[in-house]
Amino acid sequence: MEVNDKVTSEEFSNFIHDIIEKDLEEGVYDKVHTRFPPEPNGYLHIGHAKSIWLNFSTAQKYKGVCNLRFDDTNPTKEDTEYIESIKEDVKWLGFDWEDRLYYASSYFDKLYEYAIQLIKEGKAYVDDLSADEIREYRGTLTEPGKESPYRNRSVEENLDLFIRMKNGEFPDGSRVLRAKIDMSSPNINMRDPVIYRISHTSHHTTGDKWCIYPMYDYAHPISDAIEGITHSICTLEFEDHRPLYNWFLQALNIKNPPKQIEFARLEVSNMVTSKRKLRQLVEEGYVDGWDDPRMPTISGLRRRGYTPEAIKDFCLRTGVAKSKGVVDIALLEHCIREDLKLKQPRIMAVLEPLKVVITNYPEGQVEMLDVENNPENPEMGKRKVPFSRVIYIERGDFMENPPKKFFRLSPGKEVRLKNAYFIKCEEVIKDEKTGEIIELRCTYDPATKSGSGFTGRKVKGTIHWVSKDHGVKAEVRLYDYLFIKEEGKEELTFNKNSLKVLKDCIIEPSVLNAKPGDKFQFLRQGYFTVDIKDSTKDNLVFNRIVSLRSSWK
Ligand code: ATP
Ligand code: MG
Repeated sequence: MEVNDKVTSEEFSNFIHDIIEKDLEEGVYDKVHTRFPPEPNGYLHIGHAKSIWLNFSTAQKYKGVCNLRFDDTNPTKEDTEYIESIKEDVKWLGFDWEDRLYYASSYFDKLYEYAIQLIKEGKAYVDDLSADEIREYRGTLTEPGKESPYRNRSVEENLDLFIRMKNGEFPDGSRVLRAKIDMSSPNINMRDPVIYRISHTSHHTTGDKWCIYPMYDYAHPISDAIEGITHSICTLEFEDHRPLYNWFLQALNIKNPPKQIEFARLEVSNMVTSKRKLRQLVEEGYVDGWDDPRMPTISGLRRRGYTPEAIKDFCLRTGVAKSKGVVDIALLEHCIREDLKLKQPRIMAVLEPLKVVITNYPEGQVEMLDVENNPENPEMGKRKVPFSRVIYIERGDFMENPPKKFFRLSPGKEVRLKNAYFIKCEEVIKDEKTGEIIELRCTYDPATKSGSGFTGRKVKGTIHWVSKDHGVKAEVRLYDYLFIKEEGKEELTFNKNSLKVLKDCIIEPSVLNAKPGDKFQFLRQGYFTVDIKDSTKDNLVFNRIVSLRSSWK
């Protein structure tokens, strides 16, 4: 896909929208009502951002609404910490569920009544087979399943047992309620799926009221129906569950049933998008929490310095497809660069400082140089940057014995200091013991001041710098991918060197009043943000959001 064929959310269109438009035209539905249904068993990741974006912006496009519904039917794995983080992430992305915040658990009574109805109509039965036996009886893709010996219990017996399951008379795992569909169906999902299981576990909203919990495949279509959802958008792994989704709605005689539509999950190279695997990284201490700036979670991306605009732009550009594919992470990086390019000031920061003394510059003199905040966006105005006799430059911008094409600073050579003067390196000072270069003695040419119209001679290199007495000390964290693809390996490999911390960086004083979350371009280095968690007034911490250009091949 061309990266610059940008369309707005209003104009965008995909096969799901085609279905919706046909439904509206034919009067199947007279409005559009979608939902984002996360299970609160972890923090949301970039894949969920895609689903949030798709559900909310599709509703917006057709002047409909979108619900936020917590799919909280499995109390053993769920936690209120996750609920709070999910709400925060959806809001941060800029979407609004207004007063439509729901929980599948608020439908437990209704789901139970519907189960009674299914039993009464002979469409569900209590099975005493163990989990292992049920699996055995289920058959395989090539062989039909076998009917359980309990399948033909009378309605009365089923009712009695189910009510006693609900009343807590039986231990976990001893019985289940199953839909009575077809054990020889070619679709395994239709071979009498379990719809209720016994679990003596407290639930975060219903407490100890229930010791039976509905299964996802049963709870989901009914929750959609209760909320009046029209288009129930989900990912491809549920395609084979669609007949079951429809079976429940039909068996319960639900009018105007919702329609399930599947699309391909978003997968991004170098990113793991499975809550289970991400939880493992957190729990085993491979990262500094769910919001570690290297994590593909929404909270990690936020802390890294990604903006909602960039993430939504990425969702739009990756499109909505019916077949699987992996998106190159370079596209995500492109989106954040595009978003920050014209909005953020470009300043000078020296990450690995080397001291430079300009010997012919008057001691004690300070010049306030006029500098454009963003040469590509003049509306951002100008600022003053102090220049003085002692400055820092980037260690990597000096070489004692440079190769031919090195156009930065080296002994006897001249280079331009960005926004200031030409300087020439006259002397290299080394540590007596270690031999390490600790200082350069340079001279400057007052005639070469930037903006003065000097045309006397040209230099090939321009480097950035920060005045020693005015610069602000900061810690800078450089990130690499948490996972890398190794030649010949199917699975991604954990990158042990994904974090580099530089503690002695010097940044121009315009960052003195920077607040957590503020973003900058550091000239020649990339985009950076003030860390929202660890940065303090006395110890500024910056995260590198992304480098300036893609290092990706
Ligand atoms: P995970 O596999 O990471 O646990 P999940 O699908 O189990 O994800 P849910 O909380 O059930 O997580 O997901 C909520 C919604 O987000 C579902 O509708 C699901 O289809 C969608 N979703 C999850 N992962 C992706 C993805 N990678 N791309 C697009 N949508 C996704
Ligand atoms: Mg799930």
